[in-house]
Amino acid sequence: MSTTETTTVQTNGTVHALPADHVSNGFFGQHILSVKQFDRDKLDYIYRVADEMRSLVKRFGKANLLDGKILAKLFYEPSTRTSSSFQAAMLRLGGRAISIDSVHYSSVTKGESLPDTVRTLESYCDLTVLRHPQVGAAAEAARYARKPLINAGDGTGEHPTQALLDIYTIEDDLKRLDGLKVAMMGDLKYGRTVHSLTRLLSLYETEFCFISPEILRMPDYILDEVRASGHTFTEMDDVEGIIGDIDVLYMTRVQKERFEDPAQYDQVKGCYAVDTELMSRAKADMALMHPLPRVGEISMEVDDDPRAAYFRQMENGMYIRMALLAAVLGKA
Ligand code: ASP
Repeated sequence: MSTTETTTVQTNGTVHALPADHVSNGFFGQHILSVKQFDRDKLDYIYRVADEMRSLVKRFGKANLLDGKILAKLFYEPSTRTSSSFQAAMLRLGGRAISIDSVHYSSVTKGESLPDTVRTLESYCDLTVLRHPQVGAAAEAARYARKPLINAGDGTGEHPTQALLDIYTIEDDLKRLDGLKVAMMGDLKYGRTVHSLTRLLSLYETEFCFISPEILRMPDYILDEVRASGHTFTEMDDVEGIIGDIDVLYMTRVQKERFEDPAQYDQVKGCYAVDTELMSRAKADMALMHPLPRVGEISMEVDDDPRAAYFRQMENGMYIRMALLAAVLGKA
């Protein structure tokens, strides 16, 4: 299709005529709510754009691709990496960001509904990034949004942009995505990052090991999806028996804020910790990952181990979010 041809695209209910090159990536004007929206081709597209973003940042520090665009960041839950990397991504592409990182000081405290808050922000901005404690909140907000909305974590549901950066990091470190044995260890029940990551890794040939205490097992609905995608998995409560066989060990924090009963949290807090002794029994090229923040799951003495991928994950998060912002705003 030549760049002078036009095509139509439905953007949240409105049909626009657009030059074909603006829509060819399939992301333009779309909400990003779940990793279920991605297939291998779409992932590959985002990863190659992220590669470009990385080299652009390394060489020039910034570009003016999103000059004049404004991002609204609406965070109803705490965040360090997701919030600041979205902001940095926008700034590095020449755009700007308005942040409501503490809804405490906004009209939310006066009782304003989520749809009204989103409608307000999108009157000033070109897209919204939303983090919310309720599962499905991003999808609900998107029903009212006229401009693209990106899910930055909806309670125990999903964290799509984290899973995108996780897989990008795995590909970067291990140079392949098929044929990997991936262990996820910790709070698999409440950890939204492992829900999204499991769904995305199901697009590849992956052997899954889910390691958790009984009360923090991976939810059945995710396990059913893994089975339905034709994959096998094992569940266990200890990494000891498999530490020498796995290609990726993905740790998660026990999500204190999600427990209704503090006594239950006390039972499982600190249940797993990776130290240099455990790492000495792992594969020479195993990637040790964590979405962060860590609260004792990985000892700081492991940080200098070249297999510790969690700081690379953080940095890659900015390139992935730059790629996604550019794609959704039709500039990739
Ligand atoms: N930062 C990740 C999240 O927002 C992981 C965590 O909080 O433990 O889900």
